[in-house]
Amino acid sequence: MEFTAQEKYEFKRLLDNLRSKTGRGTELISLYIPPDKQIHDVTSQLREEYGQAANIKSRVTRLSVQGSLESAMSRLKLIPKAPPNGVVIFIGSVDAGANKTEMYSVAMEPPDPIVTYRYHCDSSFLLEPLEEMLADKKTFGLIVLDRREATIGILKGKYTEAVKHLTSSVPGKQRKGGQSSHRFQQLRLIAIHDFYKRVGESANEAFLAIDPKDLQGILVGGPSPTKEEFVEGGFLHHELQRKILGALDVSYTDESGLYELVDSAQEQLSDLEVMQDKVLMRRFMKELVSDKGLAAYGENEVRHNLELGAVEVLLLSEDLRKTRAKIECTNRSCDFSEYQTRTTSTAPPGNCLKCGSALAITAEEDIVSELSKLADLSKSDVKIISTEFEEGEQLYKAFGGIAAILRYKTSHI
Ligand code: ZN
Repeated sequence: MEFTAQEKYEFKRLLDNLRSKTGRGTELISLYIPPDKQIHDVTSQLREEYGQAANIKSRVTRLSVQGSLESAMSRLKLIPKAPPNGVVIFIGSVDAGANKTEMYSVAMEPPDPIVTYRYHCDSSFLLEPLEEMLADKKTFGLIVLDRREATIGILKGKYTEAVKHLTSSVPGKQRKGGQSSHRFQQLRLIAIHDFYKRVGESANEAFLAIDPKDLQGILVGGPSPTKEEFVEGGFLHHELQRKILGALDVSYTDESGLYELVDSAQEQLSDLEVMQDKVLMRRFMKELVSDKGLAAYGENEVRHNLELGAVEVLLLSEDLRKTRAKIECTNRSCDFSEYQTRTTSTAPPGNCLKCGSALAITAEEDIVSELSKLADLSKSDVKIISTEFEEGEQLYKAFGGIAAILRYKTSHI
């Protein structure tokens, strides 16, 4: 499953939260249950573990481990059958500060199917399988070639797959006796050109079958000058030609050349997301100084533009830590209610301006989620921008973490 920017953000926040939990001993239980695993098999294993835990010498640890196992078993009772992607359960008594612990538990269906059953007890939760699901599953086209051989492949997430292998009939540099040197060179060039053409056609077939939204770019590898000749010769479909990210030196042109290409392109690949963010932030800065009025920033102004449906791209800082809360009067005969943006240091709501009764928060949502939903209503793009590059940090510090590129000019509020 491919995440939307918002789902990815929410998932990341959940992982951050889980990462922050620690236990005192090994009482934090992580359970990864694949869709085809019988829940009662899991329960019987936990019951066995419970029995084993009786041997733990420290009374505090023993009680705490057994307590976690008991909670896990009662949680499992609520799940008659694992959902389509399986289920992940994190449970255990976590350190709550001030020498106290509290029982923490969360159960969720992961975005990708769980393949391997895991039962893991430690002083922290086991998060790697989920982190892997969050990792980008972007797709790249790969071509490695010299004049004799070419291999076409696809990189999806971390997985490289060879799709097609081609060999050429390009003659070697040594001509046979009796052939004129000029004629030989000509035939050789024609054969090379034909080979590049065949490689291009096979690559077109492989890469045009991928949804253009998913295909992030194409990498070409090989010795010089082959790779340059291929790139500059325009042997790929024009849509694909635009997506060439670079030509890199590799020494093999069979399947192992594909791995070599991916290795040497690591930097380009990891920079890609940041690069896309940078391009957007630069566009925003450019709009900001232009007189076309297509930039907005700050919560109020951006919210106003979202409500008008005027936002093309909503830019939200990954470091925003705010919520949008609905505040209502506790007096049932009073109809006062309002929305408020809150941080952890915002004072609790005071008294109603209409009737003087106490106000209470009746609903609260992460502001990134709330604004993203608002953006979805008018089909605006949502980008969650990291603060790990200069313009991203500026979004957070100078623009309150909320900005937008507009579809058309609107009046300021
Ligand atoms: Zn009131």
